[in-house]
Amino acid sequence: MTTRKFETEVNQLLHLIIHSLYSHKEIFLRELISNASDALDKLKFLNLTEDEYKNIPFDPKIDISFDAANNTLTISDTGIGMNEADLVEHIGTIAKSGTRSFVEHLTGDNKKDSNMIGQFGVGFYSAFMVADKVEIISRKAGDDKAYKWESNGQGEYDISESEREKSGTTILLHLNDEGKEYANRWKIETVVKKYSNHIAFPIFLHYEDVKYEGKDDNKKEIKEQVVDKLNEASALWKRSKSDLKAEDYNEFYKTISHDSDDPMFHVHTQAEGTMDYTTLFYIPKKAPMDLYYADYTPGVKLYVKRVFITDDDKELLPTYLRFVRGVIDSEDLPLNVSREILQQNKVMAKIKSSSVKKLLSEFSNYAKDEKKYKEFIDEFGNCIKEGLYQDFENREALLELIRFKSTKVDNYTGLADYQARMKQDQKAIYYITGEKETALRKSPLLEMYKNKDIEVLILDQKIDEIVMPSIGRYKDLELKSINKSDAAEDLKTEEDKKEEKKSDPIIKKMKKILKDEVKDVKASTRLSDSPSCVVVDASDPSVQMQEMMKAMGQYNFEEIKPILEINPKHEIVKKLNDIKDDALFEDITRLLLEQALLIEGVEVKDTPNFVKRLNSVLEKALKE
Ligand code: ADP
Ligand code: MG
Repeated sequence: MTTRKFETEVNQLLHLIIHSLYSHKEIFLRELISNASDALDKLKFLNLTEDEYKNIPFDPKIDISFDAANNTLTISDTGIGMNEADLVEHIGTIAKSGTRSFVEHLTGDNKKDSNMIGQFGVGFYSAFMVADKVEIISRKAGDDKAYKWESNGQGEYDISESEREKSGTTILLHLNDEGKEYANRWKIETVVKKYSNHIAFPIFLHYEDVKYEGKDDNKKEIKEQVVDKLNEASALWKRSKSDLKAEDYNEFYKTISHDSDDPMFHVHTQAEGTMDYTTLFYIPKKAPMDLYYADYTPGVKLYVKRVFITDDDKELLPTYLRFVRGVIDSEDLPLNVSREILQQNKVMAKIKSSSVKKLLSEFSNYAKDEKKYKEFIDEFGNCIKEGLYQDFENREALLELIRFKSTKVDNYTGLADYQARMKQDQKAIYYITGEKETALRKSPLLEMYKNKDIEVLILDQKIDEIVMPSIGRYKDLELKSINKSDAAEDLKTEEDKKEEKKSDPIIKKMKKILKDEVKDVKASTRLSDSPSCVVVDASDPSVQMQEMMKAMGQYNFEEIKPILEINPKHEIVKKLNDIKDDALFEDITRLLLEQALLIEGVEVKDTPNFVKRLNSVLEKALKE
């Protein structure tokens, strides 16, 4: 026998599961059955594709039995099984990146953590919620030897040689006080029906039934061993849509997603004709935790003629649809498709492209209900935007699906609705980008548009900075960032331009003072209440984009200087024309730049001098 220690992360996960998931402890059964089903899937596949496995008799099933007197529960499968190395590798460590990143993000707040864990397959370790000792007896298909793994979940586990008649895995739980109730026929039946009804293999419950024969004094107790099949054991997605109720769909979603919530909605397609395939996709209510990790867990399982092939292929749907959960089942693919073959396979490519089109058209249907669609956008809006630079084939559909905040509406708006509200002579769609919605709504850059009653989209998501320039146009409308210096030109009148000319003399002086800090100084009538603002040259990345690239460590080009725009109609600027005190002129000039940067959320580089200037100007103001 060898004793080993669990990985640190396993201990953390175990601690969390045991101490904070107690309200959902019944899910341990779902997890163990799901593992048994995975193991059966793996052996079924080998049986169909590999010669050396073809002769191994395969009787796929999951058996559950219990002993109420001794408080034990046993879950046994005839699947692939595990050898010693598998037990160490799969049970003692956390291999899945999603789960690992979850553990890394634990807050220590039990309530919050247990809410988050609901989104994950908590897996095998959930057994320790109901058991103070767990034994695994497993024999790998094709091997003679069996092994026993056992642990009380307290940091260590033992592995020793064991016996098992056939290949497969048996999990024996020694139930603790809280778990005792699961050594019960009705309890097991209820939980299995609730979570595992659509597992594709039969789940049998073994129990002892007591019957009575005869009457009164002659009454005899007869004990009988009974085996009940608990689940449907059919591929739900292959059943006819008209036979399926919302509950059936929701239940199945829970078995494949490990989500305890119902999905937002589902899309079920049964295609027949030139290509035969079935897809059942679900949109979760909440974005998966690992949505923004490069090593996210893909949510779609591939089956060929109901045989499970993979749940680990990120190419089944485009990356931007990685939040979709579900099943693709093809009748036309060969069973032994490798990942490489899949990527070049024409059938797969067609299924993928039709699936994307179908999903996008369902999203567009969902968008008809504004309130519901808002929830969708809150969770997945940024993914849809990613689609705009990943999926050119569906660009038009995607453009109709994206939503933004706006100066004109409380809810989100789409580009079509913006267009419908536009002024008659308006030729562009205007937008402002930045980090905080509240700050953006108060930005001096909006003043001119407010005065002219022109709608501006408020883009406060980081991804907007990348996506918007890549879109360029919506139908025949240019998309214009009002953070750029030329955005306001088409809206200025001759009078505005005359007004701007008046500031030429002070602008000359200001340029000299700020020559190292800015690319240019301009007068601009786009402002009304504020004395100044900063914008960037039409061809430069916006100020926020530069900050973002810096934060991502990608800022390796020369620093881009902003353009300072001053408001010729503002009192401060008007008075600057008459100032004789050069020192004061310089202080005010610098303050006009610094306040404009601050409003854009950019830090002032030389804070001590900024404060010094501010105080010197205040002092002078108080003297008068
Ligand atoms: P997951 O199922 O998400 O991979 P689990 O914690 O549930 O995570 O299981 C960890 C691993 O242990 C599985 O991936 C599998 O390799 C192995 N395993 C668990 N249960 C069984 C089983 N009944 N038969 C074979 N392998 C199993
Ligand atoms: Mg599992």
